[in-house]
Amino acid sequence: MLFETSIAGSLPKPAWLAEPDRLWAPWRLSGSALDAGKRDATLLALKIQEDAGIDIVTDGEQARQHFVHGFLECVDGIDFDSKVEMGIRGDRYKAMVPTVTGALRLKGRVHAMEAQAARAHTQRKLKFTLPGPMTISDTIADRHYGDQVKMAFAFAELLNQEARALAADGVDVIQFDEPAFNVFMDQVPEWGIAALERAAQGLPCKTAVHICYGYGIKANVDWKETLGGEWRQYERIFPALAASRIDQVSVECRNSKVPMSLLALLKGKDILVGVIDVASDTVETPEDITAVIKEAMNHVPRERIVACTNCGMAPMRRDIAEAKLAALGQGAALARKLFG
Ligand code: ZN
Repeated sequence: MLFETSIAGSLPKPAWLAEPDRLWAPWRLSGSALDAGKRDATLLALKIQEDAGIDIVTDGEQARQHFVHGFLECVDGIDFDSKVEMGIRGDRYKAMVPTVTGALRLKGRVHAMEAQAARAHTQRKLKFTLPGPMTISDTIADRHYGDQVKMAFAFAELLNQEARALAADGVDVIQFDEPAFNVFMDQVPEWGIAALERAAQGLPCKTAVHICYGYGIKANVDWKETLGGEWRQYERIFPALAASRIDQVSVECRNSKVPMSLLALLKGKDILVGVIDVASDTVETPEDITAVIKEAMNHVPRERIVACTNCGMAPMRRDIAEAKLAALGQGAALARKLFG
């Protein structure tokens, strides 16, 4: 089928599970009630996506507080008690980050509960997201490895361990989120993609990378103002990504200043074309969505286009996120009619 639909990964959480409308939202449950709540919210996220006509569904990242720290919590060798302030994403914003103080090792499975619950409850293709090694290494302080690349590869090994287990759980696509890929353009071809390939090594399922200009939070919106009328950062990394073993690339395209012509540099890859703006509360019309797909078709073979959201929806209002999902399903259906 042409123009399958998917989402970048996260959805807002129900208000009974975590405080609404914010990133890093504190949980409203604890102990076994929290475990049960995470599972229930995962099933709800699947249902909402299925009803909206999303073909490749995710767990909505309902069981993790943040896309990076949800993984780090399950890793030994990290001191969460002595958080230090660090400028991240090229000093775009300051964050309090934990510190690597010893050799990194997984404590056990990270996402077994959500993956297995999701697999048992949907017949659709299931995608699971993990943070990418370069982005993790940019979101944590280091007092052990003394070398960012070495630390990133150590994380890549752990990611690979969890990714293989997710594939064994029946996940169809594993996507690594690498928002750091448009900040460190020199390092991406030098080692960022090699670290990503290490994380994806030997996976029997499809692999994807989500690169993006961030959630619609203020620090990102302000930063984008400084990037000029055309965002050409990807021109430097797409040729290296095209040469990589990753199958799919997820890029924001709706209301984006990334020139669509750059997508032609990703020859041979499936493109998860962002047709839903997550930085705006205005709900797209199906025609808005077909317009983006039509433009993407000028640069990407139509059978390689998946209609997707620009980025995660975690910090959005729930009713707006659901309306945008419905628009995504309708827009892709209209595109099949128009261009199929
Ligand atoms: Zn994103």
